Amino acid sequence: MTARILDGNALSAKVRSQLAARAAALAARAVQPCLAVLLVGESPASAVYVRNKVKACETAGMRSLRYDYAADVDPAPVFERIAALNADPAVHGILVQLPLPAQFDTETVLSSISPDKDVDGFHAVNTGLLMQGHPAFIPCTPYGVMEMLKSENVPLKGAEAVIIGRSNIVGKPMAMLLLQASATVTVCHSQTKDLAGHCRRADILVAAIGKPRFVKADMVKPGAVVIDVGINRLPEAEGGKLCGDVDFEAVKEVASLITPVPGGVGPMTITMLLANTIESAERAARQ
Ligand code: NDP
Repeated sequence: MTARILDGNALSAKVRSQLAARAAALAARAVQPCLAVLLVGESPASAVYVRNKVKACETAGMRSLRYDYAADVDPAPVFERIAALNADPAVHGILVQLPLPAQFDTETVLSSISPDKDVDGFHAVNTGLLMQGHPAFIPCTPYGVMEMLKSENVPLKGAEAVIIGRSNIVGKPMAMLLLQASATVTVCHSQTKDLAGHCRRADILVAAIGKPRFVKADMVKPGAVVIDVGINRLPEAEGGKLCGDVDFEAVKEVASLITPVPGGVGPMTITMLLANTIESAERAARQ
């Protein structure tokens, strides 16, 4: 069996055209959704992510504000900026690009963002609401994965879903969403015994590890749906290209549906950030 490819670019284009209609409806009421992005430091990967997010806002007819800080910046001006953005009614979403340099306590920074503008969904209040099954903002990557599964009518009720990775931004919220959709969820991590055995039971396998081509064909149940969240850059000696956590070429011969890297979960993550920002603007406009 050769898997069908779940094209994140194509689905993104479709979702973004629906979002454009919502942005136009807001514009008719003189509201322009606005996302503020803060970047601390000069990490090339973070700079690319921020550039893509800002560009996506512009393409969608949304406003974006970008604030750049040197890697050794004192935290005080960053907190002052977040407080000012929290208070500005024209700003609907605030995002601090992670990771942050060591002088910042990430939890403190995330909790300084108003939960009403926390379009990444990382504030403890929003994490708690997600766990209770009433999310206000769903973290963008797992949100994008759920939209991908929905677009393909992948049956979730009673399905065995296995997630590799337990980070706060991907693995854990992914588990909550799949659980909410009535899948039977297993979360694996670096201390999991018999990881391959768990993976082989999965109807839906989500890889969020950060290790290139970690998931091999013999870890995948024939016919499974495989979602590759990983974004890894291969060493120059191996071509320097981006690759996922899944050994795509081999696994696509076993799975029924698979996401590529690039062009899979990545574009959907940015699309759901736009969706959350528009949702936030709509809520503000209703008040
Ligand atoms: P983290 O490093 O925070 O988490 C990685 C997880 O993988 C941890 O839970 C870790 O376990 C687990 N892990 C590591 N090694 C193994 C192993 N040998 N066996 C089993 N589990 C293992 O990463 P993130 O969740 O932030 O990101 C994961 C990947 O997704 C990265 O490649 C990242 O770049 C990508 N990413 C992609 C996005 C997109 O838009 N497509 C968005 C966000 C991230 P433990 O907890 O025990 O250490």
